[in-house]
Formats: sequence, structure tokens, C-alpha cells
Amino acid sequence: MTNIINGRQIAKQLNQETKTRVDKLKEEGIIPGIAVILVGDNPASVIYTRNKQKTAEKLGMKSILRKFPKDVSQAEVLQAIHHYNDDPTIHAILIQLPLPKHLNQTELIEAISPEKDVDGFDSKNVGKLYNNEDGHYPVSCTARGIMTLLHSYLDKIEGKNVTIIGRSILVSRPLQSLLINENATVTMVSLHTDDIDYYTKHADILVVAAGTPNLIKKDQVKPGATVIDVGINRMANHHLVGDVDFNSVKEVAENITPVPGGVGPMTIATLMQQTVDLAEWNK
Ligand code: NAD
Repeated sequence: MTNIINGRQIAKQLNQETKTRVDKLKEEGIIPGIAVILVGDNPASVIYTRNKQKTAEKLGMKSILRKFPKDVSQAEVLQAIHHYNDDPTIHAILIQLPLPKHLNQTELIEAISPEKDVDGFDSKNVGKLYNNEDGHYPVSCTARGIMTLLHSYLDKIEGKNVTIIGRSILVSRPLQSLLINENATVTMVSLHTDDIDYYTKHADILVVAAGTPNLIKKDQVKPGATVIDVGINRMANHHLVGDVDFNSVKEVAENITPVPGGVGPMTIATLMQQTVDLAEWNK
């Protein structure tokens, strides 16, 4: 029988654990604080930042949403980042992506103090993950959230063949490192790959992060595979669909995430988890 991976339930459990840690920090006089920077009014970004803020407040954290108009200058955003870097009540800083084209995304991300880089995008944190360094450092929240889902449904990741469709810096590459660090055999495929089906059919774990609605069908999936759908695609009828044709693929997969209700809730729950991590690591 197929398990529908319940991202909402696992995120709820994670949030309960995070709330317990927040309460403990409060006893020590520390309120974990997150500052989210939003530029412009991209409807999806507005919803994501609102959900992040609501969850942080529900868990008893300090949460600041700093909004800028879409024509804000690089200098103004940099100034805000420097301000939060110096603010001891803020432990985590996040820039909601994508940014308008005139802003230099790399410079802004690199301006965040690595100790407050809650998305794990700063090159120092990326390097530590890549090198599988010991010690504490933040990593991509979506990638870490996917690892939490996998650990909830699989006994071990070591030795598994994993195929990741997509090679983004925000999700796929950090996930590749996390999986390799747990001794999986990882293949990345993209639009440049010949015969994608060869790689999908050999995957014990198939992660799809392509941003293409219903890209993966049942005949491309190994029977008994675990299928993680990262895609969030809003259709003309306003419905959200993933990158996996859920109804057909669930006939062959052993475990599969739905969209919505799979990876999405894990991203926010992991962001909260990692904000508390930063508050604990840097106290
Ligand atoms: P991206 O959009 O930056 O890049 C997509 C990648 O997929 C590229 O590497 C491209 O080569 C590859 N690709 C696209 N179509 C392909 C195809 N037909 N065959 C093979 N490869 C193909 O990647 P991203 O930022 O990781 O986003 C991917 C999807 O995940 C988007 O739908 C995004 O909205 C979603 N996303 C969801 C969450 C979440 O919390 N659930 C978080 C981040 C991104």
C-alpha cells in the first residue's frame, strides 16, 4: 500500500518541538527573533512571508517583516541587512526570493552575517555543507525539510540510489550534499540530460524540483520508490499542482508527497527550527 507522506503532520510535530525549545530559551531571557525582508508585491512571496511571520508568532518568537517597494535601491536593502546583523534580538535574517532584477542577489545574501543566515545560502555555510564539516551551520530549509520527511518514512538513506530532477542552488544542490553526506548515491538531472527516464527508473528515492506541472508520470518511476515532489505550480484555475502526476505515480510509489501538504509545510517548519538553532548556537 502506498504511504501518502503527511508533510502537514510532520511539520506540526516539528513546530511543537520548536515551541518547546522557544519556551526554554525564554526562561533564559532569550526570545528567538527572525527578520524577513520582502521586496515588491509578488503575490506568492507575499503569501509565503505572511505564513512565515504567522508561524513564528504562533511559536512565541519575535518576527519582523521588513517590506520595501519593488524599486528600492541596493544600498537601502544592504542598510537593513546591516541593521539586523547588529541587532542582538534578531537571530535569523531571510531575504524572500526572487528579487527584482536590478538588485544584486548574491551581494545581499553575502551581506547577511553567516551566523544569522537562516536559509543557509551564504557561501561560507554552503562550503561547510559541501565539505561535510562537523559543527553547527544552517542549510537550505527546503532541503533540510526534505531530509526530515525522508527520515520519517525510511529506515536509512545510506546506499540508496537518489535521482534529483533540477539543479537549483536553493534546493537541489544543498539536498545533493545532505544526501551524499548520508552516503546515498546521488544523480542530478536537468534539461541538459539525455534520457531522463533512465535515471528516474533507477531511483529508490526520486526528488522532483523542476517547476514543471505533472512532469513525472507513473511509467518513469521505479515500483516501490519514494517520490518527493518539490514543485509548486499555480494553474490557471488557481489550483496548486506539483511536478509529479500524483494520481498515476501513487499507484507505483511506496511513499509519495502530495502537493499541497508535502514539502511546502516542511520548509516553513524547518525555517522555524533553524531560527531556534541559530538562537541556541549563538547565545
Ligand atoms: P529552479 O526553478 O531554479 O530550476 C529548475 C531546474 O529544473 C533547472 O535546473 C532545470 O534544468 C530543471 N528542469 C526544468 N524542467 C525540466 C525537465 N523537463 N526535465 C529535467 N529538468 C528540468 O528550481 P527550484 O528553485 O529548486 O524550484 C523548483 C520548483 O520547486 C519550483 O516549482 C518552485 O516553486 C518549487 N519550490 C518549492 C519549495 C517548497 O517549499 N515546496 C521551495 C523551493 C522551490
